[in-house]
Amino acid sequence: MHITTDIVTARDILRHWRQQGEAIAFVPTMGNLHAGHMALVDRARRHGRRVVVSIFVNPLQFSQGEDFASYPRTLADDQSGLSHNSVDLLFAPTAGEMYPGGHELATQVTVPGLSDILCGAFRPGHFTGVATVVCKLFNIIQPQIALFGEKDYQQLVVIRRMVQDLAMPVEIIGAPTVREPDGLAMSSRNGYLSIEERRLAPHIYQYLLDARAAILAKSSDYAAISQEKMANLRAKGFNPDYFEIRRSADLGLAAPADKELIVLIAARLGRTRLIDNLKVSLGKEPAFT
Ligand code: AMP
Repeated sequence: MHITTDIVTARDILRHWRQQGEAIAFVPTMGNLHAGHMALVDRARRHGRRVVVSIFVNPLQFSQGEDFASYPRTLADDQSGLSHNSVDLLFAPTAGEMYPGGHELATQVTVPGLSDILCGAFRPGHFTGVATVVCKLFNIIQPQIALFGEKDYQQLVVIRRMVQDLAMPVEIIGAPTVREPDGLAMSSRNGYLSIEERRLAPHIYQYLLDARAAILAKSSDYAAISQEKMANLRAKGFNPDYFEIRRSADLGLAAPADKELIVLIAARLGRTRLIDNLKVSLGKEPAFT
């Protein structure tokens, strides 16, 4: 596995592969890798001859007071995990390499509308930070294929829209959420949880399952379902930002006629902000004959 922290070296390696006609599949991450990340790497290998992973804790997507400084950085372990997983290139730039003039002054990519709702309403500037760094990483790596987890569903929708709006020549592939045996979605931030919080955290997935069951049982009072689940979360000691039922294609407000839905949640447990989601398909109505 090649490892580099600089853009010029990454480009040299990638140019060589491109000249051989090898398709490049790319997995951007912030490191502290777990089985969810590795599932993206495995999937990438099925799609491209060469697999490139980036590790970069992007200061532009953290607001003041968030966990940028304390975000887990475990580069040595990540490196050995990736090399055992047959990754071809690890690109792990410094902030100075990515934002030589400082991230505050960097040119930014904004996806309006989608960036201001749900997590965007609670983390102003977050999705602009994400879109900007992903755009820059795409320009450096120039992959044919890039893989993102459905765990961060709003991020996936924002990236798809950016790629479509700016005609970026890359195919975006979403991959299912990898969970712990008790249902908790794997996340680098789970390590922040105390033993007691870790015991409570799987309620998030349980409430998503409850909401899906209610929707499938033909309850279309989505506001009532959301309010009940917000109350359930508070009763368990969570501090929820939102619990919402949206259209899965564009995260628009779900109406009773919509068939492809997604339930999304963000909640704080102590100092940890957890997010998760679950798709719900109401399928097609039987045709009259
Ligand atoms: P992060 O390092 O948290 O920025 O995540 C890097 C990529 O891994 C993103 O596309 C995430 O959506 C994806 N990812 C994170 N956790 C999971 C998970 N539990 N299952 C699947 N993909 C995940």
